[in-house]
Amino acid sequence: MYNPKSLKAEEFISHDEIMDTLSFADEKKDDLDFVDSIIAKARLRKGLTHREASVLLACEDESRINEIYKLAEQIKKDFYGNRIVMFAPLYLSNYCVNGCLYCPYHLKNKHIARKKLTQEEIVKEVTALQDMGHKRLAIEAGEDPINNPIEYILECINTIYSIKHKNGAIRRVNVNIAATTVENYRKLKDAGIGTYILFQETYHKQSYERLHPTGPKHNYAYHTEAMDRAMEGGIDDVGLGVLFGLELYRYEFAGLLMHAEHLEAVHGVGPHTISVPRVKRADDIDPDEFDNGISDDIFAKICACIRVAVPYTGMIISTRESKAVREKVIRLGVSQISGASKTSVGGYCEPEPEEENSAQFDVSDNRTLDEVVRWLMEMGYIPSFCTACYREGRTGDRFMSLCKSGQIQNCCHPNALITLKEYLTDYASDKTREIGERLISDELQNIPNEKARMVCSDYIEKIEHGARDFRF
Ligand code: SF4
Ligand code: SF4
Repeated sequence: MYNPKSLKAEEFISHDEIMDTLSFADEKKDDLDFVDSIIAKARLRKGLTHREASVLLACEDESRINEIYKLAEQIKKDFYGNRIVMFAPLYLSNYCVNGCLYCPYHLKNKHIARKKLTQEEIVKEVTALQDMGHKRLAIEAGEDPINNPIEYILECINTIYSIKHKNGAIRRVNVNIAATTVENYRKLKDAGIGTYILFQETYHKQSYERLHPTGPKHNYAYHTEAMDRAMEGGIDDVGLGVLFGLELYRYEFAGLLMHAEHLEAVHGVGPHTISVPRVKRADDIDPDEFDNGISDDIFAKICACIRVAVPYTGMIISTRESKAVREKVIRLGVSQISGASKTSVGGYCEPEPEEENSAQFDVSDNRTLDEVVRWLMEMGYIPSFCTACYREGRTGDRFMSLCKSGQIQNCCHPNALITLKEYLTDYASDKTREIGERLISDELQNIPNEKARMVCSDYIEKIEHGARDFRF
């Protein structure tokens, strides 16, 4: 029944295979020689199967867990250096016809403020985001064929790319909208989107159907097979994710990796990113009503195990998580974070009045982008506003082969310095700028190739004198 190459959801995410994987993991988790052999395989940085990674996740031996953490840190350094890519979400509309039990945008919620941004409002919101320094957005919208048809989403993307305020520009729009048709994915591709992101929420079919009692999202197969349709429509960078807390985390973890293996087996390219959100408090949502909430320690272990299992896949964490949790998991493998996010429809340009709450969830990290950027630099990270790959046509398998060989580093590092320089010059506070300038001059020395180092220095100097938008 289990077949990673199948295009049928229940065959590439086979429930029986997940249950067998969990039994296998339980059986093997105390066999420390076996655990060591998996860790040794992970050291090769070629990834692990869902079965192997599930054994690591189940292992409770403290010294092995520490080894997994150390390896995750090392792999993170090897593949991503000390860079963290920054982005912000932009909620376009919270009209939704679905009945998801964990999201306040569900159709039956009659007291949440329903909003949909007009193109004029988008101009204002995006201008505010540009004025903070953002270059990369993830747009979000509920599923509603009347209020948020694909034409509306395409118009919004077009508007976002067209706005140029002072030196600002949004250079990459990632899209997080409901599962749709191949034809619509093709339209999104033609509109120039970066990654198409769709969270599975849960891979457990029965729980999925219970948690999505009404609306088109109820259809487990249609939702689970969405990435295949996206790829058929020409989108070759797709982002997976589950909402931890809905089902048993070990089940979700195995499902997530099986989904990644499926994409690799069928399309020759695994997921571009994996997101790891946890259920959070929101308008009429109480996270305590879900039985499968996970502790911060388990959350960190999941992040470390994902890092060693799929070393070349970016990992995203949002402002759902607190500063303390973000600090911990950034070290263990997260490569992209959001900063200064608003999870309401609008709210960047002007804060939303309290009586008009339209937020999807409560944000745990409320700092400004300047504060987040400074915090990252004080911890030794380089905040990066890079969007170069998609603009250079480095997507899909082309991107993955550069990633797997480690060659992408030759682009990521100088691009991080160039885009950080832009940020510091145009948007940073004096204190942040001072720390950042020192960091850039130190990190320039870490570009191994002399020619690349010289070109990067030259770009940085040109930015100082008003030029913008260089890239490797
Ligand atoms: S999770 Fe998405 S589909 Fe479900 S109610 Fe919220 S916005 Fe709608
Ligand atoms: S060079 Fe490519 S992979 Fe590296 S940070 Fe920029 S966009 Fe991402």
